[in-house]
This record gives sequence, structure tokens and C-alpha cells, in this order.
Amino acid sequence: MLRNAKPHIRALRPYEPGLPIEALVQEHGVRDPLKLASNENPLGPSPKAVEALCGAAGQVHRYPDGACRALRAALSRRLQVAPDQLVFGAGSDEILELVAKTFLAPGDELLCAWPSFAMYPIVAQGMGADCLRVPLNAELGHDLEAMAAALSGRTRVAVICNPNNPTGTSLGAEELQRFVEALPEDVVLLLDEAYAEFARRPDFPDSLALLARRPATAVLRTFSKIYGLAGLRVGYAVCGPELAGLLERARHPFNVNALAETAALAALSDTAHFERTRRMNAEGMALLRRELEALSIRTWPSDANFLLAELGEGACEALLKLGVSVRDMAGFGLPGCARITIGTPEQNERLLKALHALRGKP
Ligand SMILES: *Cc1c(COP(=O)(O)O)cnc(C)c1O
Repeated sequence: MLRNAKPHIRALRPYEPGLPIEALVQEHGVRDPLKLASNENPLGPSPKAVEALCGAAGQVHRYPDGACRALRAALSRRLQVAPDQLVFGAGSDEILELVAKTFLAPGDELLCAWPSFAMYPIVAQGMGADCLRVPLNAELGHDLEAMAAALSGRTRVAVICNPNNPTGTSLGAEELQRFVEALPEDVVLLLDEAYAEFARRPDFPDSLALLARRPATAVLRTFSKIYGLAGLRVGYAVCGPELAGLLERARHPFNVNALAETAALAALSDTAHFERTRRMNAEGMALLRRELEALSIRTWPSDANFLLAELGEGACEALLKLGVSVRDMAGFGLPGCARITIGTPEQNERLLKALHALRGKP
């Protein structure tokens, strides 16, 4: 027994990812699996990114550019922010950890909604800090009034996931602004926008504009979702310059690998792939919501690339037997619910066929 291990690390329950395709085949005997469990881009990566990757493979004996100069310059132009406001990470997961490492110690609190992204409590507990989880409201959106009421002298970081994973619900600019006004200025506001590129509501917050008014803010984005590069691990934060400087100190010098930077740069330039993904997602979302409703399966409005559906107890395992992997939300306090990634039209049809089979309808 390694008695010297920190108790908060020993008590950690590790993040449970969706099963990789290979494990679905080898461990669950699923033939030709359809994975709709991790919100990956069903169209795959941008072909431009794949080409850039192949071209860069012969240079991997070199260390990457630790400052991500090329990607930094491109994003700074695209987002109209200063280069030193950007912090890159091995996925935005790493940025969450950098924020925790920089701001959380035992006795401190990270405030978030629940159910929300599973990494928030994990990174807080990893630092021996507490995670205060404020239940979502009846519509499964953030209860910002309750969150504001839960702020205390111990709150160091407040996380808003917009659109929220796993519910897909989103917040508009006005409600967010009201919460921001209630937030003491030295509490770090972490806006996790992993799915913001999919959002459709016209009043979706302009979080980068908020940065100018509230520099202790980190807007988290990722290349894992709409850009289809989850396997490469690259994400970033846009922050006020002081916050960016702190997170830069906390990171490893070569945290973004060379292939990831190259591919992200190419993916960023492929606006056709981006737009195609966004359009296909909107169409698939409308189709699935309509068809699930026709099957008397409750869904919630979603601004992301997945939807929450009340499939009933045991449905996730039954779907897996039919070759379709979705994410069971029982462990998130949403028993009988699943988070389903929107697929290509063919994938959506296959999901619907499986659901019809499950419900005993032709
Ligand atoms: C997927 C996801 C992330 C991070 O993904 P990375 O692959 O680490 O960039 C962050 N937040 C939410 C809410 C997500 O769903």
C-alpha cells in the first residue's frame, strides 16, 4: 500500500471515455460498430488536415514549436485577438487542468453546473480542491441564479459550459451577462465552448467581446469537435493577457505536438469542411428530434452536435448489441437517458432503425 499517495488522488474516479471502435469489436463482439458516443465529427477530419499530417510526418524527429507560432498567428487573425491572449493545450482538457493547477488548492472551490462535463470535478479534485455542483434547472439548462447564489469566498473558478455537455442546452448573451455581473472580478470565469461552433441561437454570447470587459476569463475552444481532430489532442483558451501569461507558466514546454499543430492549422483553413459539418449537423439534429419524437422518445433542444434522449432503462446496452454505441447518462443523474452524437445521414438512419427494432416497431 503506497501510504504516501495524496488522499484526493486516491479518491479520484477516473474519467470514463466512450469505448474506442477497436474495443467495441474486440471486447464487445460488435460487428461494424457505429460510435455515436463521443461527439466526434462524423465526416472525419478535413482532407486538408490529413494531407498536411502526411507531409509533416517526416519531420517528427524535431521538437515541436513550443510556442505554436504558426497556429497562434492564424488564430489571432481569425479571432481578432492579440497573439499573447492565446494558450494552447493537448486538447482543451489540458487547459482545464492548467486552470486548476494555477488557481485551485485544498479548501478552494470550483463552481459548475451539474450534469455538465465530467472533467470539471476531476480537475478540481486532482488539486485537492472541492467542486460545487449546482443542479441544472427543470429545462436542463444552467440555473445561473442558483449558481450566483452559490458563490462564496472560497470560489476560485466558475465554469459555464455553453452549449452544455451532456444536455446540449445553451445560454444567451443576456443571461450570461447577468451572471458575469454577479461574479467577483478575481474569480476566474471559464467559458467552455467546445461546441460553440455548432450553436444556432442568434443571441449566442460573443464571449471574445466579453474578454475586453472581464480579463479574468478563459474561453475554451477545441479542434476535437467540429474540426474533427480529437485523436490529435489540440485545444486552446482565449484569455485576458495576465491570465494567459499565468497559464503559459503552468504548461509543459512542448504540450502540443508537431502533427497536431500542423493539422489544426490546415483544418482552420478548410472552411468548406467546417461549413459542411455544421450544415449536416443541423439537418441531422432536426431529423433525429422529429423521428425520436415520433417514437415517443423525449429529447431536449440542443445547440451542439449531440442530443440528450430519454431512451429508457437498459436501452444503451440493447443498442450496443445492435452495434450502436451511445453514451449512457445514468451516472450523471439522468437515468434512462443517453447522449447521442448526430451522425451522417446514413448513420442517423442506422440509429433510427436500431431504435425502431428496440421499440418493436417496423
Ligand atoms: C470534448 C469536450 C472538451 C474537450 O475536448 P478536448 O478533446 O480535450 O479538446 C471540453 N469540454 C467539453 C464540454 C467537451 O465536451
